[in-house]
Amino acid sequence: MFKSIVEGGLLADLKKISGMGYIIFDNHMHLRTDGRFLNAVDMFLKAGGNSFNLVNLPDARLPLDDYYSRLYSYTVRMSEIITEERRISVPVTLGPYPLDYFRFKENGYDPVVEMKKGIDLAAKLIEQGKANALGEIGRPHFPAEPEIVDHCNEITEYAMFIASDLGSPLILHTEDLNPEGYRFLEKMADHASLQQSMLVKHHAIPEDFAIQTGLIRSVLASRPNVRKIMNSGLRLLLETDYVDDPSLGWKVIPPDSVPKRVELILAEVTEWEKLLENIFLKEPIRLFGEDIFKRTTEP
Ligand SMILES: [Zn+2]
Repeated sequence: MFKSIVEGGLLADLKKISGMGYIIFDNHMHLRTDGRFLNAVDMFLKAGGNSFNLVNLPDARLPLDDYYSRLYSYTVRMSEIITEERRISVPVTLGPYPLDYFRFKENGYDPVVEMKKGIDLAAKLIEQGKANALGEIGRPHFPAEPEIVDHCNEITEYAMFIASDLGSPLILHTEDLNPEGYRFLEKMADHASLQQSMLVKHHAIPEDFAIQTGLIRSVLASRPNVRKIMNSGLRLLLETDYVDDPSLGWKVIPPDSVPKRVELILAEVTEWEKLLENIFLKEPIRLFGEDIFKRTTEP
């Protein structure tokens, strides 16, 4: 049955594949209403995508006193507009971005206290059904002073305890991880009674796949990356880490990249069915639940 779908032109196939229940899913996008916003969503949909994880985008213009409350309402509102205007549901990921640490510190706040409060507030919205995951939480992606790394680990562990209580995924933002880095996070998850597979290492690199771990890797959907992982047989997600920007640049990669990589997979992978089922069905549903994708996969 699937074979016949592949024979009629790739984009048409991709649409049929979405219609058959695959969730052509980008696991990491940041949007803003004064950037491309719905135009970016349209680029994604037009290319054959049908749902993406909307992750809050830090905004230095917001006052620090009620920073997370404002940032989260804004992000949740965007997800509602996307659903109203484009008839797709998108999971929402809320949480303190690791680099918020520096802004709080420079302005005389205790970053650990503020960011833990930010996690509590995100948890409340997840409980209310307005959001679906915690993140992106973790450590700076560049070397930082040991004290800062310790504080960030404390915040991350706190988030793991909360994610465990909520039964929700936690999207991790960290430096590139070596085997010890993965072990460290696995142990932290075990300590917090959080299933390792509810931890998603955002911006994982294909080289990571040589490392055994219970964490789920979300890989930037560049052509070289997808070619490197397409035969790994491992559980993973793809993402663009698209950062919407009023200057209309392309950071990190454009919002239509994931559906375009699905075309690449269809063209180059013999066992594409297994790969698509893994990336575009099993993992998104396991992490975010089936309900959020219902509108997305309804014909
Ligand atoms: Zn991000």
